[in-house]
Amino acid sequence: MAWNDERVELLKKLWAEGLSASQIASKMGGVTRNAVIGKVHRLGLSGRAAPAKPQRGCDPESRTEEVEDTQTYAMKSVDSLAAEPEFTAPAVLASGDLTTVATLKGNMCKWPIGDPAKDDFHFCGQSAPAGKPYCPYHAHMAFQPAQRRADRPMPPQRLARDAAKRRAAS
Ligand SMILES: [Zn+2]
Repeated sequence: MAWNDERVELLKKLWAEGLSASQIASKMGGVTRNAVIGKVHRLGLSGRAAPAKPQRGCDPESRTEEVEDTQTYAMKSVDSLAAEPEFTAPAVLASGDLTTVATLKGNMCKWPIGDPAKDDFHFCGQSAPAGKPYCPYHAHMAFQPAQRRADRPMPPQRLARDAAKRRAAS
């Protein structure tokens, strides 16, 4: 693919941000890592001092912020690759209640919703495909690439066990 002004600007920008040649190549698409390196040399950009380091200080707070930025970025790129199935609202049982540890059955989505320590904690409860723990929406949420796993709740088995323990105690 030809290097038009726009792509050269993008290359310069990504290079200045400290991305590696292969990262730039995959971001831009249509170019190989070698093509990126070659262009960088021709543009005289190769004298980059060091990979861009966070400008922020070293206090733990700003570090957290940085991690979040990375996650947000990761989420965006993941979302652009895979369309998210439509949101599924939690199932409401015939009794009018939401699905709890007591009413959760094998074929229901075990995605935990809310704070397990609170009374309104429940499970998604929508029907899950045979042999699968989650409905299609939550299966999609559960099997995100590693970057998104921080957003995932605790495994349902553990939540159920904790809830059962609490019930036994009260
Ligand atoms: Zn679900």
